[in-house]
Amino acid sequence: MEIKTFGVVGSGQMGNGIAQVAAMSGLNVIMNDISDEFVNKGLATITNNLDRSVEKGRISKEVRDATLSRIKKSADIKDMANADYVVEAATEKEELKFGIFKNLDSACRPGVILATNTSSIPIGRIAAKTSRPDKVIGMHFMNPVPVMKLVEVIRGLATSDETYQITLELTKKFDKTPALSNDFPGFIANRVAMPMINEAIFALYHSVGTAEDIDTVLKLGFNHPMGPLALADLIGLDTCLAIMETLYEGFKDSKYRPCPLLRKYVEAGWLGRKTGRGFYKY
Ligand code: NAD
Repeated sequence: MEIKTFGVVGSGQMGNGIAQVAAMSGLNVIMNDISDEFVNKGLATITNNLDRSVEKGRISKEVRDATLSRIKKSADIKDMANADYVVEAATEKEELKFGIFKNLDSACRPGVILATNTSSIPIGRIAAKTSRPDKVIGMHFMNPVPVMKLVEVIRGLATSDETYQITLELTKKFDKTPALSNDFPGFIANRVAMPMINEAIFALYHSVGTAEDIDTVLKLGFNHPMGPLALADLIGLDTCLAIMETLYEGFKDSKYRPCPLLRKYVEAGWLGRKTGRGFYKY
């Protein structure tokens, strides 16, 4: 099946980034969320990003206009009936994603691949909620999507070679570099990066250092472009907590226990950049 129309479920920071990249690659995009309000917010972010790129001379005004004209808004998952490939990028909650995949399975034509941008939830578990587990795959973009080159591609037990090949081709069409991961909680990226972030939060919790000092040590001492606490704020503390819970549940190993301070911040609604307050104020 030729992929002309690309569906994105979830218009938050990852979903709108994926929609932007897909539209810039020439695909028609259907960008979905639970209400017009969320979709409009996602579209406003894309518009701002493109305007900034025009100002900086990275793209022409024509490219900006053509990109925006290819994005159709949707607040009804049934609109995905018109999509040839769908990526889900909704909130990192297992039950929520199970429900979305059941609905996508009913809404989409039988041959359509259903990918997930989940950071940590095993692909096989999501695929089992559909009647097409061979067509379910992980397509894990990095934040911010228009900037970051990597897409972690995760094959579930049942993912077919065809689904994998089509996903690799799309990754290249988006000018990204794929890395293949097997299907274990957290895959490669968050199996390695999230325990480091969690440990940085423990260091803050135990008053080993201030947030600024912890981040400075990792930036200047280990050449990380961004400190782990600033990175956690960028990812979203709710997403960080959800990933640690998935690792902890998945491996039943105490080394993955989420730091109580992370939980406290999430319970207080301090989710990082997206709410204006996390380990830093924005
Ligand atoms: P976000 O909070 O910015 O956006 C999530 C969006 O999903 C919201 O707009 C919300 O309204 C929407 N949503 C919730 N339920 C929905 C439903 N039933 N149908 C459609 N939309 C729904 O979160 P995010 O950072 O964009 O994360 C989205 C996904 O991407 C998560 O699975 C996360 O683990 C993954 N991810 C995040 C990052 C990161 O750095 N934040 C990186 C890679 C992958």
